[in-house]
Amino acid sequence: MILLTCPHCGPRGISEFTYRGDATVARPTAPEGVDDTSWVEYLHLRDNHKGPHDELWHHVQGCRRWLRVRRDVVTHKVISCCDLAGDPAGDVAESNP
Ligand SMILES: [Zn+2]
Repeated sequence: MILLTCPHCGPRGISEFTYRGDATVARPTAPEGVDDTSWVEYLHLRDNHKGPHDELWHHVQGCRRWLRVRRDVVTHKVISCCDLAGDPAGDVAESNP
């Protein structure tokens, strides 16, 4: 079982969390000014990263906080986890394989 250490709740099974997407994609600041091609790229096109990558996770069965998780998508090793809002609970460095 993959464990994810929530900065608020501690180590929890991954089944308590929901993957919510790529954390590196930025929403256009003025969407009404974006052409259709750029909007489609923002909504649907993603790079297929290999190695460490930042992801958004939601702790739906715990504190219900949004988290930024840095995870190696090849090995599934979680490298770090922090509250998306920058809560002072802080970053948690992961040591689980
Ligand atoms: Zn939590």
